[in-house]
Amino acid sequence: MKLFEVYSLFNVTPEKARGCHIWDEYGTEYLDMYGGHAVISVGHSHPLYVEALTRQINRIGFYSNSVHNPLQEELAKKLGQLSGYDDYSLFLDNSGAESNENALKLASFHTERNRVVAFRKSFHGRTSGAVAVTDNPTIQSPFNALHNVTFCQLNDIKGVEDELKKGDVCAVIIEGIQGCGGINIPEKEFMQALEQICRQTGTVLILDEVQSGYGRTGKFFAHQWYDIRPDLITMAKGMGNGFPVGGVLISPEFKATRGMLGTTFGGNYLAMEAAITVADIIREARLVDNALRVGEYLMEEMPTSPLIKEVRGRGLMIGIEFHSPIAEIREKLLSEEHIFTGVAGQNMIRLLPPLTLTLDEADVFLNSFRKVLQEFENK
Ligand code: PLP
Repeated sequence: MKLFEVYSLFNVTPEKARGCHIWDEYGTEYLDMYGGHAVISVGHSHPLYVEALTRQINRIGFYSNSVHNPLQEELAKKLGQLSGYDDYSLFLDNSGAESNENALKLASFHTERNRVVAFRKSFHGRTSGAVAVTDNPTIQSPFNALHNVTFCQLNDIKGVEDELKKGDVCAVIIEGIQGCGGINIPEKEFMQALEQICRQTGTVLILDEVQSGYGRTGKFFAHQWYDIRPDLITMAKGMGNGFPVGGVLISPEFKATRGMLGTTFGGNYLAMEAAITVADIIREARLVDNALRVGEYLMEEMPTSPLIKEVRGRGLMIGIEFHSPIAEIREKLLSEEHIFTGVAGQNMIRLLPPLTLTLDEADVFLNSFRKVLQEFENK
């Protein structure tokens, strides 16, 4: 049987990974400035993570979510403390799209309305509801189009207000910082006004922190830069350091009723062990502070070049926008400098390294990047 090939992959087969480094089958070492779509928060194969998962697999293993599992409560407690959302409840699932799907469903139950406002250049995942609120017609099928979604421009509060005042919108869904759409950071005044207009119109504010959350931007959630408190917060990616775990933080205003949401795998023993260990490491190693410090260093020291249009980002979520397509630059970074990077669209290199990245590792990237840029400038 062949694989159904629908997305591009790095042409590298990893054999070993530690911290921010990956080795391929030939022993070549790579610096990971992408973290496998931003999932590597505490570093590849962190010793405490490996030990905890090994212990757990020997204890209960892969049992699914059908029995009382105290690890879920332990994670909820730790996550409440780490994020500042002690008074919220936690629903556990397995991915970012699923978290958004559950959040949209909760908003719709709560308000008994069915229209959603989302934003231009947003990305929220690949399930039916999540794709429907994603601004990318190439990934939408006729089935997704059945959803009732209106797209507004980021930072256009008047546009959002006009929609919300119609009274039929159950939720506004917005990323803390847009990731796949090109590292677009909403304005603080816009986010605060958005929170207010959602309150006034009884609309649920969903913050998608799947990519921008879990410490990546130098606060636990990116929206904490704007001093707002959303009704629902969705998470995944960095939560399990590569183990598939997702979740929704739910404000106390939502009432849980049996059957409202459900899951087979969500909150299973191994996923919980992974998420608890990640939360412990993030706290003890002060990785949120590290993300801010090393991210600021990267932004400050980023080489200037006539090829570069703009560098945008916060913490370790950085986009380097070029005037023209970056495929060749990125390929050179991988094949000659041995550095993994991500993309957003055709013209942007996206950096989402592990939150453990050191200043020395940042320098390795900066020196290689400078070298590659010079080669392209001289072409
Ligand atoms: N939301 C955001 C902001 C994302 O960046 C992504 C994935 O890149 C998702 C949702 C979907 O997450 P998953 O691929 O885990 O379903």
